[in-house]
Amino acid sequence: MTESTIVSNASNLAKYLKLPQNGKVIAEYVWIDGSNGLRSKSKTLMKKVESLKDLPEWNFDGSSTEQAPGDNSDVYLRPVAYYPDPFRLGDNVLVMCETWGADGKPNKYNFRHDAALLFEAHASHEFWFGLEQEYTLLDFQGWPYGWPKNGFPAPQGPYYCGVGTGKVFCRDIVEAHYKACLYANINISGTNAEVMPAQWEYQVGPCSDIELGDQLWMSRFLLHRVAEEFGAKVTFAPKPIPGDWNGAGLHTNVSTKATREEGGMKAIEAAMEKLSKRQSEHMAVYGEDNRQRMTGAHETASYDKFTWGVANRGSSVRIPRETAAKGLGYFEDRRPASNGDPYQITGIIVETMCGKVDG
Ligand code: ADP
Ligand code: MN
Ligand code: MN
Ligand code: MN
Ligand code: MN
Repeated sequence: MTESTIVSNASNLAKYLKLPQNGKVIAEYVWIDGSNGLRSKSKTLMKKVESLKDLPEWNFDGSSTEQAPGDNSDVYLRPVAYYPDPFRLGDNVLVMCETWGADGKPNKYNFRHDAALLFEAHASHEFWFGLEQEYTLLDFQGWPYGWPKNGFPAPQGPYYCGVGTGKVFCRDIVEAHYKACLYANINISGTNAEVMPAQWEYQVGPCSDIELGDQLWMSRFLLHRVAEEFGAKVTFAPKPIPGDWNGAGLHTNVSTKATREEGGMKAIEAAMEKLSKRQSEHMAVYGEDNRQRMTGAHETASYDKFTWGVANRGSSVRIPRETAAKGLGYFEDRRPASNGDPYQITGIIVETMCGKVDG
């Protein structure tokens, strides 16, 4: 199969997307599979979705997604959030789902369930999160999009927030994804070209509690889905190209009611004390292959040792200059890798700051 045969025919498709649906609604059920990826399938509903209750539980073949054995393969999809569908428009929706077993227990890869229990128990802290999702766009062969075949572009320098031919790669995908997120009510707060060419970032947040994980996962779905139409692959690998090329992270900005109030710096210092005692537990859920990225170079800290500092992009946690100046605000945990699971990341932060909950 060549590249040209697999890219969809957008002008032919446009005709059909405009056809009326005779009162029926398409719901695209989206879930997280057994290898940190996303899957989805479509369901026809008889009427417009007014609340989560209008979205029935569904199921899929978990043996095809590394989520269940072949002899007991049904995995259940439980809708937890829904968003306007930027591809099908109208009343059609995208549905974020949790995965559950026939035994009534959360699927092994359902990390949302435990995180939601933590957030519920500690709701009075009013957590807000803003995540900076970095990613790299690849061509069909898996080489960064726009890079010379079998070669490398000029060294890093002109690409971060770059403008102009040769400095930016695939701005069309980034623009399309930005608009798709806004249409879908994802709280996307900005986007920028990154240090490595063909690497980009967007931010989601601030969002409260479990909503951050739901929205970030849906924003990843939108990115894969948009890039598909442009024949590009998205990788969230934390160090897609070895050597003197920046890795990709998922900087996690955190605040609570206490850190945002007068005297908030005291609450941030208390959080730093707690975080410093659980370095290895945090790194265990901050993404695969993160050691390749956290070399201490390229604006990263050591993988093994916790450090924090004001305006320091080489420490595990950075306190933004403005937060230090005002004595209140938020902190930035710079350790998570781009492929980290936002439910696990925000979950362990709540657990470390506020205490465990029996699940
Ligand atoms: P950086 O300077 O590290 O590149 P960005 O501007 O990319 O920072 O991202 C900052 C993120 O912090 C945004 O997602 C924003 O929503 C989030 N943020 C801002 N204020 C707060 C807050 N009080 N609590 C949590 N997150 C916040
Ligand atoms: Mn079938
Ligand atoms: Mn950023
Ligand atoms: Mn960045
Ligand atoms: Mn950052």
